[in-house]
Amino acid sequence: MKYINEVDLRGKRVLIRVDFNVPIDEYGNITDDTRIRAHIPTINYALDENAKVILASHMGRPKGQRVEGLSLKPVAKRLSRFLKKDVKFLTDCVGDEVEKEIANMNEGDVVLLENLRFHIGEEKNDRDFAQKLARLCDVYIDDAFAVAHRKAASNVAITEFVKVCAAGFLMRNEIEYFKKAMENPIRPLVAIVGGAKISDKIGVLEKLIEKVDKLLIGGAMAFTFLKAMNLNVGKSLCEENMVDVAKNIMLKAKEKDIKFYLPVDVVVAERPAVDAEIKTCPVQEIPKDWMGLDIGPATTMLFSEALQNAKTIVWNGPMGMFELDPFSRGTFAMVMHVANSHALTIVGGGDTDVAVHKAGESHKISYISTGGGAFLELLEGKKLPAIEALERCA
Ligand code: AMP
Repeated sequence: MKYINEVDLRGKRVLIRVDFNVPIDEYGNITDDTRIRAHIPTINYALDENAKVILASHMGRPKGQRVEGLSLKPVAKRLSRFLKKDVKFLTDCVGDEVEKEIANMNEGDVVLLENLRFHIGEEKNDRDFAQKLARLCDVYIDDAFAVAHRKAASNVAITEFVKVCAAGFLMRNEIEYFKKAMENPIRPLVAIVGGAKISDKIGVLEKLIEKVDKLLIGGAMAFTFLKAMNLNVGKSLCEENMVDVAKNIMLKAKEKDIKFYLPVDVVVAERPAVDAEIKTCPVQEIPKDWMGLDIGPATTMLFSEALQNAKTIVWNGPMGMFELDPFSRGTFAMVMHVANSHALTIVGGGDTDVAVHKAGESHKISYISTGGGAFLELLEGKKLPAIEALERCA
């Protein structure tokens, strides 16, 4: 695969596929611009090379219709501020008008196209639509790791029609950090997996068991494992149909001599609410009508000890229902332990990075992936279609 710094951008029309799918409130304000900032190095590099920069992104799920609330217009304004230059917003992403505007661009200009998903062809990986996009540029750069697991016209089919294709710096970082963690890790490699359901992460757990030295399980999914050990988990979230899967994963861990950690105590409540009565109990004593909503202090200590000698840590999924303050301690304690570790630390998956940012510790993590689904699919060992498309071009 080629990277942006290996291709000639000078004076060229360079279409960069970015992920500007940012949250926007009812007044049209961007409430979190992390995703915009993540692409600035790639955009600035293209500008430094005197390219004519054309930015293309999706936003939300308009399903091929023009939906005003899902316009990328507010992003152009925010981006102008970051780049300290005018970013012209075009009201469509393909067609005669767009082509005319691009023909009038000067070197060092930036335009932002309207939401790609206003056209039905985008999500269908439609070749005609891809050709229309391809007509806009001489060089195609894919920097949108967060959608690399989805086959779309703007990240797969387009690569058939543009002669020069390469990955941007964000895409490169995502791939390289992932390789450092999972392909050639400095050991011990410790994985922390939490979140709601085993069923969403079976593939990940099965892959991790093949690679890691230690596996720490928290979050709601721990209760299915505890159930598999014949413990009573009360009203905690538990996937009965996954109990055998959980048993199998524990068996594999034993066979492979992988250290497998489950919570030893939990924070329980009668209901998942901030005003509910809460208490901490050992996992053997979860009351019948109560539910486990966070790992307890003894577990935090156990997990932090397990992280002590780690050289590489990969973390996906919160330790509890951290969105509610009474059940956030375990997740935030883990954030502190991971952030202060001397290991290479890689955090991926939407909720985990929210917790890290909320704790104000993001600067201490080696790498926070911008891809939720894409990161999980990489962890599962899957090939991502957009990455494969770039590899075919090389
Ligand atoms: P996931 O998307 O699978 O990583 O799951 C993240 C979600 O799991 C978060 O919204 C958490 O609130 C939720 N979660 C984590 N632990 C628990 C728990 N013990 N009970 C209920 N929900 C949980």
